[in-house]
Amino acid sequence: MNSANTPHAPCSCDRLRGAFAAPHCGARRRDGGSCQGPAMPNGRCRMHGGASTGPRTPEGLARARRGNWKHGRCTARNLALRRMIAKAGRDLE
Ligand SMILES: [Zn+2]
Repeated sequence: MNSANTPHAPCSCDRLRGAFAAPHCGARRRDGGSCQGPAMPNGRCRMHGGASTGPRTPEGLARARRGNWKHGRCTARNLALRRMIAKAGRDLE
């Protein structure tokens, strides 16, 4: 008979060795324990990392400003232009 100590199937734990070796988040869980999620560079996991602190670079700031940009129809510049055209049309009458 086989020994009881030998596993019947290869353990997937070998593939998780890197995850177990990584630093853990450590935030307090609702059940009182500490979060075991792998930590990001800020020391917390993806769920306990905290709120975004905003864009860091001028490129990131420009990208954030254009995040919800659709077509530019309602930009201040375009609205002013449309107002001017409408006024010019009224003045012609
Ligand atoms: Zn966590």
